[in-house]
Amino acid sequence: MAVKDTRVGAGRGLQGITASNSNTRISATRIPSRSATQAAPAPLVSDNLTLNSERPRAAMVQRLQAQGISNDLVLAAMQAIPRHAFVDEALASRAYDDASLPIGHGQTISQPWVVARMIASVCEATMPKRVLEVGTGCGYQAAVMAQVFQQVHSIERIRALYDMAKERLRSLRLTKVRLVHGDGMLGLPSVAPFDAIVVAAAGIRIPEALFMQLSVGGVLIAPEGSGTQRLVRVTRTGASSWDRQELEEVRFVPLKSGLQT
Ligand code: SAH
Repeated sequence: MAVKDTRVGAGRGLQGITASNSNTRISATRIPSRSATQAAPAPLVSDNLTLNSERPRAAMVQRLQAQGISNDLVLAAMQAIPRHAFVDEALASRAYDDASLPIGHGQTISQPWVVARMIASVCEATMPKRVLEVGTGCGYQAAVMAQVFQQVHSIERIRALYDMAKERLRSLRLTKVRLVHGDGMLGLPSVAPFDAIVVAAAGIRIPEALFMQLSVGGVLIAPEGSGTQRLVRVTRTGASSWDRQELEEVRFVPLKSGLQT
């Protein structure tokens, strides 16, 4: 398999922000907000759940813009989805902080910046239509993706999280997301190829099955590494060629094989 390697994001005056939790960025490039005075995008979901949380969510979206997220569709989706509805009630007041939070079973909901960065970075060249997420967790990122993409499939290996995500997405009427209880390291061959694949857990190496399930021109983003992890973006450039770019340093929960029932 021919993989061309380019590294970006290094040596650009990274400001060290150390985080000890999971599914977070380790170092942040602080980019001044281009539109600090611009109104936040209008919410897409109208539901009582969103009413009390619109202001903290608008503040979260402004922070994402200040951190360099500029894709309007992604920002509107982050504004629309009530992140507090995906965490335990006891943690709801922290739902709009720039942090990952525990969701049980040793797993976490990803930091908002990580979610926005991964989704925005698969939309840079063309707009994907059919997208796979590996690692549904609580279902938050899948819900955000459902606002951006036409068809979203998401796969989770822990049965209890799969059940919980299914129930949450149903109660928010986000039935467009197709959830699967399975091992995402194998991808979803019955549905492939995908225009984009977003992996929400880190392996030492990105599973090769996922590269093979990208359409030509398709983009995969995944954290990679055991100790130090980095987001890696892989674009399929031909039937047997892929282009690889390394992005920011991050910390994710581990990608594991097999099912937990
Ligand atoms: N997408 C989430 C983050 C989930 S955390 C969000 O919305 O914030 C990562 C998830 O990946 C965990 O729930 C973990 O169980 C799952 N995971 C790890 N290895 C996996 C695999 N091989 N297949 C499917 N899911 C996996």
